[in-house]
Amino acid sequence: MGIQKKIVIIGAGFAGLRLAQDLENTDFDVLLIDKNNYHQFQPLMYQVATARLEPASISFPLRKVFQHSKNVRIRIADVLSVDTQNKKLKTSIADFEYDHLIIAFGCTTNYFGNAEIEKFAFPMKSVPEAIQLRNQILQTFEDALIAPPDKIQALMNFVVVGGGPTGVELAGALAEMKKNILPKDYPDKDFSKLTIYLLEGSPNVLSPMSIDSQKMSRKYLEELGVIVKTNTIVKHYDGKTVSLQSGEIIESTNVIWAAGIIGNTLEGIPTESVTRGNRFLVNRFNNIVNLENVYALGDIAFMATPKYPNGHPQVASVAIEQAKVLANNFKLSLKSKPKVEYEYHDKGSMATVGKRKAVVDLPKFSFQGRLAWFTWMFIHLMLILSVKNKLSIFVNWMFSYFNNDSTLRVLLKPASKNK
Ligand SMILES: Cc1cc2nc3c(=O)[nH]c(=O)nc-3n(C[C@H](O)[C@H](O)[C@H](O)COP(=O)(O)OP(=O)(O)OC[C@H]3O[C@@H](n4cnc5c(N)ncnc54)[C@H](O)[C@@H]3O)c2cc1C
Repeated sequence: MGIQKKIVIIGAGFAGLRLAQDLENTDFDVLLIDKNNYHQFQPLMYQVATARLEPASISFPLRKVFQHSKNVRIRIADVLSVDTQNKKLKTSIADFEYDHLIIAFGCTTNYFGNAEIEKFAFPMKSVPEAIQLRNQILQTFEDALIAPPDKIQALMNFVVVGGGPTGVELAGALAEMKKNILPKDYPDKDFSKLTIYLLEGSPNVLSPMSIDSQKMSRKYLEELGVIVKTNTIVKHYDGKTVSLQSGEIIESTNVIWAAGIIGNTLEGIPTESVTRGNRFLVNRFNNIVNLENVYALGDIAFMATPKYPNGHPQVASVAIEQAKVLANNFKLSLKSKPKVEYEYHDKGSMATVGKRKAVVDLPKFSFQGRLAWFTWMFIHLMLILSVKNKLSIFVNWMFSYFNNDSTLRVLLKPASKNK
């Protein structure tokens, strides 16, 4: 065996994790770096935020995944900068040398430069943020019990900004909480004034999906009592008042920001290699343009193909498929065989609004309702990483299917020694 090539992967999300898994037991020396010691399954984060699933059901310790691996090592560190000339990566714990560097560190919440919104609105891009949101939601119900009359409505208004799948799913889950949970948990309080707004800047919710799915998801949301406002832009939010571009004002202490994402940045990546949305420009082999041996995968990669001239959608399946192709290309390089280009084959998309209410678009047709909802659940169960987590989620879902309830509404606030 020759000298092992060092492959350093930044990020153990859908792309980075899959790449490391596919490179297990090869002749590469793989170092997987993430700032967290776990992989997170973002599609079910809204269920953690609304106390339907435990955080551990959607988070997987990386060391457990690679317990038996001979060539994959893990480091928990924040990646700070890269020196592409000398092939060195600087992190919060040490510098690492590489032969090939793969950047798969994804995106972060995009507040479109509005520092005020960033300060006061709640994001949901990580498991800790989903837990923070869960605490905020549960604490708001407690605060509403004792609030003076002039403070009540701001507590009772939940404003979800962004009508993509995350916003739609979250608004639907909050509406189901109002309908099924609050009357049981708070028999002494009238929560009928609790209002859930879903605000979307474009003319439709779920805008990348089919017209039928857009219409049905809106209908489902409205049936659940959600006030859906499309063509609606948020201009300011000061923690108490949401000001819309139309001049309308909504009093709310609970604004959830699901309105967009922007690429994470890495010092040392030349500006010519970065394009809109802070994404790194890559060729069909996920190689960052102008940089040798540096690759980008998943949400952070911008690959224009004849079929997708504006880049691929930022979804889990693209991240996973790109990782598979790149891992295969590394293996082919060991045999001096030619590399294979990446092409996205869209297998469809889906979103759920509530119990027996979901929308599914397949390449040739779309369907909605009960069948779509079971399809959504089945696919998500299949995608979740471990058998134990599949079982735990399945049990939770079955429990809430029959009871419209869960036992997870615990307010777990971080302890502090500095009283
Ligand atoms: C709430 C939500 C719901 C979603 N629902 C769906 C869905 O239903 N279906 C779907 O297909 N897609 C969904 N997506 C999109 C999907 O999650 C992304 O497309 C996918 O996660 C992209 O994978 P990735 O590997 O590129 O990045 P990610 O999965 O985001 O992984 C990035 C990793 O990099 C790490 N990292 C970041 N910065 C650093 C740093 N400086 N140093 C070290 N490590 C770092 C992070 O900790 C993370 O582990 C959803 C996204 C969100 C936020």
